Amino acid sequence: MRCPYCGHPDSRVKDSREVGDRIHRRRECESCHRRFSTYERVEADYVMVVKRDGRRERFDRQKILVGIRKASEKRPLPVGELERVVEEIEESISALGKPEIPSSVIGEMVMEKLRGMDQIAYIRFASVYRAFTDIETMRRELEQLIKDAAPRPIG
Ligand SMILES: [Zn+2]
Repeated sequence: MRCPYCGHPDSRVKDSREVGDRIHRRRECESCHRRFSTYERVEADYVMVVKRDGRRERFDRQKILVGIRKASEKRPLPVGELERVVEEIEESISALGKPEIPSSVIGEMVMEKLRGMDQIAYIRFASVYRAFTDIETMRRELEQLIKDAAPRPIG
């Protein structure tokens, strides 16, 4: 980040904090040592995903798309619709403004979207993602789905 006072290209980050969807950084110029602030937007592409085992990897939209595609195989969901879901998730991730996001948060985002679109795709995704360990957990999830889908009394 170029120093606004002397134009020196390198600065040191003294402090970082999240402000809405931006990261507020206090920087110090390495040449003239004057301090300045920047507000940087976090793009989803630069977000690091923290996996369950603690490993980190760069956010990869393709990975999400593949997962959604697999879950919605033979379901009446147009490809464009799936692309849109991935785009919306990318936007939500950017809006969080965090440099790191647990993979579980992204998984929940995907499930929420699928749930509103196609319940079979949702349950497929959830069964892989949540790794339902037994048929009982899956049954509870299905029951919840059926309960939520039941028509509500008017008024
Ligand atoms: Zn400077």
